[in-house]
Order: sequence, then structure tokens, then C-alpha cells
Amino acid sequence: MATKLNETDIKIYKYILKKHPDGIRQNDLWKKLKTTSRVVSRSLKKLEKLGYVKRTPVIHNGRHTYFVVAIPKPLPTERKTRIRRVRINFKQYTDIPCMYCPYIDKQCYEGGFYDPRTCDWLTEWILENISKSRKRIRRK
Ligand code: SF4
Repeated sequence: MATKLNETDIKIYKYILKKHPDGIRQNDLWKKLKTTSRVVSRSLKKLEKLGYVKRTPVIHNGRHTYFVVAIPKPLPTERKTRIRRVRINFKQYTDIPCMYCPYIDKQCYEGGFYDPRTCDWLTEWILENISKSRKRIRRK
């Protein structure tokens, strides 16, 4: 049996999750979806195998069926893309002049007497670091 969810499986799963969050009997489900018991049964087996639903056998009006409860979890297409880890070398930033500057507290701000946009200490540090980074890249 295929273990990849198709459009029908996803529709059925979303329907149960949204319209019957407390669960629904399988023999009521296919009637509500206006489809066949075979289609629903096939999808539910797959959904159960993949952990999207839990089916509990029950007897209703003397007939065997299942009580189906959807388990909320992201669908394959909705899974968040992995965030690539980027290594940041914090050591590289600890010597930024602002870290030990006496004017950082209240006197340095955009448009102030001490302004990060025109600060010679900061500009010098940035230029020095750009130069170091370029050398590092060239060595690789
Ligand atoms: S930008 Fe210049 S003046 Fe402002 S905190 Fe940094 S080093 Fe100090």
C-alpha cells in the first residue's frame, strides 16, 4: 500500500479535523462526504498508518465499524522548511568599539552629536573587519 498521502486522503483528514474534532464513525463519514465506503476505508488505513488518525473498532446498529479521531499534525506539504544553521562567531563582534564606548548609553544616537552613521571609531572598525573577512575568504 502506498504511504504517500493523495489529495483525497488530505481532504478526508482535513474534513475530520475541522468538522468532527471529537471524532466520527467511519460509516457516517463516507455518507457525509458523499463518496463510497471503499474510498474512505482506503484513505483512513493510510492516514492511520501515517499517524494522522486513530481508529477504534465499534459496533453500530449491529455492524462493525470504526470510530475515527483525527490527530492534529502538519501535513507533508505544510511542514515548515528547515532553517539552515549558521555559525556565528561572536568573538568577532566583542571588540566592536560601541561595546566599551562611554557615549553608547544616551549620547550616541542617529542625529545626535555622537552618531553611529558618522562615527569614526565605528567606521574604522567596520573597514578593518571587512578587510579581515576578505583576507579570510581569499585563503579558503
Ligand atoms: S557609534 Fe561610535 S560613538 Fe556611538 S557608541 Fe559606537 S563607538 Fe561610541
